[in-house]
Amino acid sequence: MAVLGGIRMKKPYFENVPNSLSYYEATANRSSKRKSLQASQEADVCIVGAGYTGISAALFLAEKGYKPIILEAVSVGWGASGRNGGHLVNFIGSHQKAMQFFGHKRADYIGRFAKKGVSIVRQLTKKYKINCGLVSKNICVAYDAKQMEGLKQEYQLMQKYDIESQLLDREELKEHLGTNLYCGGLLDVNAGHLHPLNLVLGEAAALEKLGGVIYENSPVVSINTKDNMPLVKTNKGEIRCKKLLLCGNGYLNIVPKLGYRILSLPTHMVATEPLGKKLAKQILPSNACVSDERYILDYYRLSQDYRLLFGGGVTYGVKTPKDIEAKLRPNIENIFSQLKGVKIDYTWSGNIGISFSRFPQIGKVDENTYFAQGYSGDGIGASHVFGEILSEAVTGYTKNFLFFSKLPWLPFPGGRKLRAVYSILGSWWYTLRDFIRI
Ligand SMILES: Cc1cc2nc3c(=O)[nH]c(=O)nc-3n(C[C@H](O)[C@H](O)[C@H](O)COP(=O)(O)OP(=O)(O)OC[C@H]3O[C@@H](n4cnc5c(N)ncnc54)[C@H](O)[C@@H]3O)c2cc1C
Repeated sequence: MAVLGGIRMKKPYFENVPNSLSYYEATANRSSKRKSLQASQEADVCIVGAGYTGISAALFLAEKGYKPIILEAVSVGWGASGRNGGHLVNFIGSHQKAMQFFGHKRADYIGRFAKKGVSIVRQLTKKYKINCGLVSKNICVAYDAKQMEGLKQEYQLMQKYDIESQLLDREELKEHLGTNLYCGGLLDVNAGHLHPLNLVLGEAAALEKLGGVIYENSPVVSINTKDNMPLVKTNKGEIRCKKLLLCGNGYLNIVPKLGYRILSLPTHMVATEPLGKKLAKQILPSNACVSDERYILDYYRLSQDYRLLFGGGVTYGVKTPKDIEAKLRPNIENIFSQLKGVKIDYTWSGNIGISFSRFPQIGKVDENTYFAQGYSGDGIGASHVFGEILSEAVTGYTKNFLFFSKLPWLPFPGGRKLRAVYSILGSWWYTLRDFIRI
């Protein structure tokens, strides 16, 4: 392992992500493959990682006349951005936790961004005519009165930040859900769900039209950030740039300084066979996406072709279970008895970057090298907010960047090496808390 300019370099490796075809890949609006980096180049801005963070930062910069170059280890959206549940939610991280961790004054500043992620995604899909099946309505459901109390507090916050929402009792929930399992819920009218891979592919196409360049199959193997102009190398080429943005999140493992900040953990999803419109309307009549209030939660929604896309239950543990279907099927059948024995057509996994506080992180590794990561499972909207803040910092407007980069964070001592231990302890702790409902 070499050390260049203070950053240790390892070969990137992408463990725990078996190459099973996801439902999203099978239905992607993917055009031709992009070239890999084969030469030495210079750039104003180089970005590592073609997920929402990297692509949105690049897109905002390209709109201002920059010509950013993105290096992606595999392909656009190969990471969490092309594998997630597709639930587009308001708030960046839990606002209630932000109040505990950062105090009310800073939580109020964060509150200004509560609606921003959803709004950015809506604007981009409209402006660039991105076909990603975006529909409205998100519901968070409660199993008991204690969880409902939490939702009531969240509802107050939504009122404060002008987010159109409605508390639902058991009866009202029937308009949206074909199960009696929950005692109530909180409907967020303007949040919603979408095809996550088609969103990032559409954003990538928009970026390229504006002159941005994306190299696929170009894993970055070394980074020297110490010089005034960072140097980024792949096995076949290199880019020297004025500004470098590290947007590899839960997959980036070549920058140890970032390794202590977040844990990268695999989570899993399945897609059922098409259920047909009638059955689909029975289980999710209003086509809302749904997640529950537990720590180890279930989240689900319908696809455009009336499949149930279901994730959860097994969020913790660093090894991908051999049989994802066996892990998730009981949860599906527990919620919807109508789906007993339903055929599962696709199973897949993806890495999320979790921070200790569950709040995203942004900052600098060196003078001209920036990063954003750690959306902790709620990243579709938040990654676009942080992508925009990264782009602002590059152009010299640093107000938001300075605010968020100064927020305190707690390290995971031992970093990546101890992630299995953290993961197992986390799994036990949160399962226990869900079980005894504290
Ligand atoms: C199964 C699952 C379900 C989820 N569900 C939801 C949900 O419903 N709603 C929600 O809001 N959020 C959800 N999330 C979280 C959300 O998907 C992420 O927070 C978000 O996609 C992060 O985007 P990103 O661009 O920061 O990272 P990623 O999308 O992970 O992109 C990082 C990219 O960097 C590349 N990379 C890494 N290292 C290198 C290197 N050395 N060289 C070149 N490239 C490199 C990777 O290949 C990858 O493509 C979910 C995540 C998962 C895994």
